[in-house]
Amino acid sequence: MANECLFCKIAAGEIPAKIVFKDDQVLAFEDSNPQAPFHVLIIPRQHLSTLNDLKTEDRALAGHLIFCAAQIAQVNGHAQDGYRTVFNCNHGAGQSVFHIHLHLLAGRSMTWPPG
Ligand code: AMP
Ligand code: ZN
Repeated sequence: MANECLFCKIAAGEIPAKIVFKDDQVLAFEDSNPQAPFHVLIIPRQHLSTLNDLKTEDRALAGHLIFCAAQIAQVNGHAQDGYRTVFNCNHGAGQSVFHIHLHLLAGRSMTWPPG
């Protein structure tokens, strides 16, 4: 756990969140400022600041985040209509919390390109 990392604290149960899924590797919870009717963040329990910190040995974990997003979308009835998954990496992409998280957004139509 990284000191003063918000998402490490959520993973440790020190800060409350609306958990929608958890296993031994990841945790998924509702975004507190949702950008769609359904907006969940999927995080690894392990602290990694950005995608730039992924090591060879983290490949399975990165894949698991994506697999969990697809499962959560399916279970919540969003697979058919569709959903968006986003990793923001660093300030230029709008990353504001420096613990890797996969956004899962659904429940409205999306435009492209994103802002
Ligand atoms: P990003 O801008 O990609 O780093 O996304 C960070 C996301 O974390 C934003 O969508 C925030 O709304 C969300 N967020 C920040 N603090 C919390 C929190 N305590 N609980 C749930 N989501 C949060
Ligand atoms: Zn962290």
